[in-house]
Amino acid sequence: MQAWSRAARAAGKRVGFVPTMGCLHDGHLSLMREAKRRADVCVVSIYVNPTQFGPKEDFSKYPRDFERDRKLCESAGVDVIFAPTDAEIYPAGAATTWVEETAVAERWEGASRPGHFRGVCTVVAKLFNIVLPDVACFGQKDAQQCAVLKRMVRDLSFPLEFVVCPTVREPDGLAMSSRNVYLSPAERQDALALKQSLDFAARDLPAGRTVDEVSAAMVRLIGSKPSARIDYIAFVDPETLLPVKRYEPGRMLVMMAVFVGKTRLIDNMVL
Ligand code: AMP
Repeated sequence: MQAWSRAARAAGKRVGFVPTMGCLHDGHLSLMREAKRRADVCVVSIYVNPTQFGPKEDFSKYPRDFERDRKLCESAGVDVIFAPTDAEIYPAGAATTWVEETAVAERWEGASRPGHFRGVCTVVAKLFNIVLPDVACFGQKDAQQCAVLKRMVRDLSFPLEFVVCPTVREPDGLAMSSRNVYLSPAERQDALALKQSLDFAARDLPAGRTVDEVSAAMVRLIGSKPSARIDYIAFVDPETLLPVKRYEPGRMLVMMAVFVGKTRLIDNMVL
């Protein structure tokens, strides 16, 4: 992979990169299209990284279908699929060198999923070193991941352009996610409350309602769904992820994690 990228760069080509865990959907494909727009060649990695899953999380049952993914990548004009094995990514067995961001990663997803961002930062740093991209595309769907990785890129001086692409949604508003396949039909219906409650915030905060009022309305809406249980709803600065109380256009990110049945879904919106 490194040799291929070095040759591409030596030939004057800009290398675009989209890291994924596979089970690809239109959200991933939009990242690939953006990478193609910004670069001459596009590399997609497909790797379900064990070190970013907690011991009780869904690593072993995470959906995997390489043949389907391969066809989707081909249809999106991807030049290279990099699909390493665990032994290739963690040649020494368990990693003893980690990349850890310690500010932006602290709260929200970081608090609910201890070790998650350490696993993400470590594998993404390794993938950057292997794929040698000029530009890497990530999805706003994982807002905190973007904020953490942006910090990592700046702090460690990775020589690449970090691009955040908009969240792609189903026609009814549900953010596309590989984990949506876990939802039963009733849960799939209840899951619409995430986006609907974000729409509340987008309507009511600019209209002058307070964060507390809007938050209470969001909790009521999600709480009215039988299969839904809120992990967190947070009103934060989009870069630091620290809580903010006052709405300022473009400076407030509303993010949430909600269990729908056993499935943990996340969504967010910059207001
Ligand atoms: P994953 O395979 O879930 O690790 O995601 C790989 C990349 O796709 C990450 O940068 C995600 O943020 C991005 N992604 C996942 N879902 C969406 C979506 N619905 N819209 C846009 N990007 C997404």
